Amino acid sequence: MGKSRSSPLVGIIGGGVAGMSCALWLTQLGHQAVIIERGGQLGGQLLGINRVNHWVLGLPGLTSAEMAKRYADHIAKTSVSVCFNSRLLAIEALPDGYQMQLSRNSQSQTLPVQAIVIATGVRALGAEMFGDLPGFTAAYLSGLVSFFPLDHLDKLAALNGQRVAVVGGGDNAHFTAKDVALAGAHVHLVLRSPAKAQSAIRAEVTALACQGLITEHSASEVTGFRLRQNGIDVALKKNNQVSGWLSVDRLFVRIGFAANSEFLNGFDALVGLHKQSGYIITDAAKRTNLPWLYAIGDVANSKHQSVVVAIADGAVAAQDFSGRKTG
Ligand SMILES: Cc1cc2nc3c(=O)[nH]c(=O)nc-3n(C[C@H](O)[C@H](O)[C@H](O)COP(=O)(O)OP(=O)(O)OC[C@H]3O[C@@H](n4cnc5c(N)ncnc54)[C@H](O)[C@@H]3O)c2cc1C
Repeated sequence: MGKSRSSPLVGIIGGGVAGMSCALWLTQLGHQAVIIERGGQLGGQLLGINRVNHWVLGLPGLTSAEMAKRYADHIAKTSVSVCFNSRLLAIEALPDGYQMQLSRNSQSQTLPVQAIVIATGVRALGAEMFGDLPGFTAAYLSGLVSFFPLDHLDKLAALNGQRVAVVGGGDNAHFTAKDVALAGAHVHLVLRSPAKAQSAIRAEVTALACQGLITEHSASEVTGFRLRQNGIDVALKKNNQVSGWLSVDRLFVRIGFAANSEFLNGFDALVGLHKQSGYIITDAAKRTNLPWLYAIGDVANSKHQSVVVAIADGAVAAQDFSGRKTG
């Protein structure tokens, strides 16, 4: 590590854009930062988004995946340490911070830190919500059911002329329904509750429904699956009554996201951490209710999830930590 042994070490769990930003700011402010990432790459969700990101000032034309590479290259030029393929095995509270025990490439390692920053992001909900439904495992293993909001994009050409079910009522379900319908498939949009997509995309989907390209199944819920040769039958319940089977060639599920915070539940040192629906609650400085524990990015923000908010969160937590240590 580049900094002197006396400069405070901060452990950042999660190497997405929030964690990287925080690490950068900490080193700029004269502290040591170590990123603990469970995967083998920095970038988090951005790595899976191969679409131009129009929302980050100063980086027009780059896809999110290209941004992730830029950010990771930047981190590689700093003194930030990164532990890939690592996860937290234990945390012990110390008078001046925490002792973390990590599993790194299957080896155990102990790391004393003065603060911990949780930056573990969110994941698309899917298998964990449907796992108990009859027929789900076979349907999932067939590869005909998928959950990541953009995983239809590389399949559009093959969907022409097919029957496709899209489950969900938010923006991602609506964008998927539109993309798939315009690719020439007939879409069955299954909505459990009234649509809550933004008005513009909702209007586009409604127009496609009027043209007969999309059939909406309102107040409907998926209750089971049956695999056919080259397709899948989806059991539906409408207004709590069995309404029959929908035969489709494939299914895209877009039912929201969950915060990656459950892994903290098993640690005694973190008992009493305030969360709401899994999202970690912080104050404006990104402090949690526990001493020297911060949370940043999507895992601490259920409403305004974006690259720039995650970057800003990292900067705020780093400045707050630095101010407390040196101010
Ligand atoms: C389909 C889609 C499209 C989007 N489009 C845009 C857009 O156009 N513009 C925009 O600004 N935003 C967009 N976003 C949102 C943006 O991608 C996120 O807000 C941002 O990437 C969040 O960064 P993060 O660092 O908080 O979390 P993440 O990117 O989720 O990173 C979390 C990291 O933590 C790691 N991790 C998780 N659990 C553990 C653990 N227990 N131990 C160690 N590591 C762990 C993960 O492997 C990951 O690397 C989009 C999101 C999606 C899903």
